[in-house]
Amino acid sequence: MTVLKGNGVFGGIAFGKLSFYKREDEEIKLKKIKDAEAEVKRYEAAKNQAINELEELYESASEKVGEEEAMIFKIHQMMLDDVDYCESIINIIKSENANAEYAVWVTARNFSSMFSDMDDSYMKERATDVMDVSKRLIKIICESDENVHSYSEPCIVGADDLTPSETVQFNEDTVKAFVTAYGSTNSHTAILARTMNIPAVVGIGNGLKKEFDGCEIIVDGYSGTVYVLPDVTTIERLKKKQELCEYENKQLQSLKGIESVTKDGQKVNLYANIGSLSDLKMVLQNGAEGIGLFRSEFLYLKRHSYPTEDEQFDAYKKVIEKMEGKRVIIRTLDIGADKKVKYFNLPQEENPAMGYRAIRICLDRTEVFKTQLRAIYRASKYGKVSIMFPMIISVDEVLKIKDIINEVKKELDFSNIEYSDDVEIGIMIETPAAVMISNELAKEVDFFSIGTNDLTQYTLAVDRQNNKINSMYDPNHKAILRMIKIAADNAHKNGIWIGICGELAADDSLTETFLSIGIDELSMSAPFILNIKKKVLNADVSKIKEKVLSQL
Ligand code: PEP
Ligand code: MG
Repeated sequence: MTVLKGNGVFGGIAFGKLSFYKREDEEIKLKKIKDAEAEVKRYEAAKNQAINELEELYESASEKVGEEEAMIFKIHQMMLDDVDYCESIINIIKSENANAEYAVWVTARNFSSMFSDMDDSYMKERATDVMDVSKRLIKIICESDENVHSYSEPCIVGADDLTPSETVQFNEDTVKAFVTAYGSTNSHTAILARTMNIPAVVGIGNGLKKEFDGCEIIVDGYSGTVYVLPDVTTIERLKKKQELCEYENKQLQSLKGIESVTKDGQKVNLYANIGSLSDLKMVLQNGAEGIGLFRSEFLYLKRHSYPTEDEQFDAYKKVIEKMEGKRVIIRTLDIGADKKVKYFNLPQEENPAMGYRAIRICLDRTEVFKTQLRAIYRASKYGKVSIMFPMIISVDEVLKIKDIINEVKKELDFSNIEYSDDVEIGIMIETPAAVMISNELAKEVDFFSIGTNDLTQYTLAVDRQNNKINSMYDPNHKAILRMIKIAADNAHKNGIWIGICGELAADDSLTETFLSIGIDELSMSAPFILNIKKKVLNADVSKIKEKVLSQL
């Protein structure tokens, strides 16, 4: 047995076979497809994206290393457009009913060996290029195929690291847990594990060896331990631990349906954070009183091109209807930093967490923003909807957002499209700037929601993605708690409500503090809700408030 230590990002124990996540180097198998025309279109869309990516690489390389060196990207573009190369791919798709990635792979191998066999040394070198450019194409094709990484048999996924767009494609029914060599407990990948109710251990390091692929393992997400080829005693011990945890979870289920009110009558809304429709199962299972954060960007991450207004409308409507009149807070697109979407063609940045992201993109690419707002407003008539905006740093941004909302409403009125006239507008308080001007911001919006994940990284100057400084990432830091108090006091002074939707909302050691501060709503990954409810039901705020606040 090998015992590996990492950081548990979500409790739970899972038993299963380790299956290493495969990326572009994986063997490409022939899969028979039904609709060859659709497959050709899939290939063509990927080809166009690859050409765009190469254009960007060409431009940035021209600036950095000069036009001559950058020419390679132009050559790659030409290869992708080469008539014989394209014909070969389309021919294989059509004649063999083959999947696009397989057709590209076979073509790449044929062209590569043809180039290698040539006498001319320049042409010989093109063998590597054709493989290189084909791999780029295959990677794009595979990313657009939601089924490529879906595991058909139950397993535990292993990887060096996983991006949010990779993780979001896991199906909770087959992926029992995941373990990674790198990665931080504060990343969106970790957050996804919590939201999807999947035990996970990250930051294991080099100990997570590829040779363990296919081995039976146990993941203990509580202690951050992974057991490879566990012995009988360990299996028995962890089975008992699993039973105990399941028993405790069942006990908590009895709290479902009870209103979350403290002993002395203080009400706090316990809401859930979601990233996609599939998270709703856990939301309903744990009796959430609403959705406090719908990370709408995950709708964009799962795809290969912008979701249309209708596609977004359908997704929002489904969530709103499922929540049957309970509040659903949709956060507008928070793309950037670790949440990368190729088709946005975002520039490479030295410091993306502080760069072109979230509301900054939306206020710059207003058509993308307006499409999303139109979809949300159209869906608003099916329930109780609120909209909130991420990464706010100024009143000016809020005023611009409100102008755009007014334009959207006018357009909807003009087209006679109905929407609710009761949509609350809120902002996330996740930058120190927003905390410091919360008095002014509160005059412009209906509510605040504190994003403690980003607020922690920006206040402490500790990158939430960097595992090396994970121990310095301390959301319980006094600086953060005092900021929460400042924002809450300013919210209440101006007659608006305030919630917390960062991971800190689920920290039961702080529930009494949040209640004492007067936080009106706590929104978290659904599996944590009932534990927090237990804390709320047992709290008597009038008795503890003075002492708790004096310690802040
Ligand atoms: C936060 O920053 O606390 C938050 C809720 O947003 P995200 O984790 O998606 O950045
Ligand atoms: Mg955030």
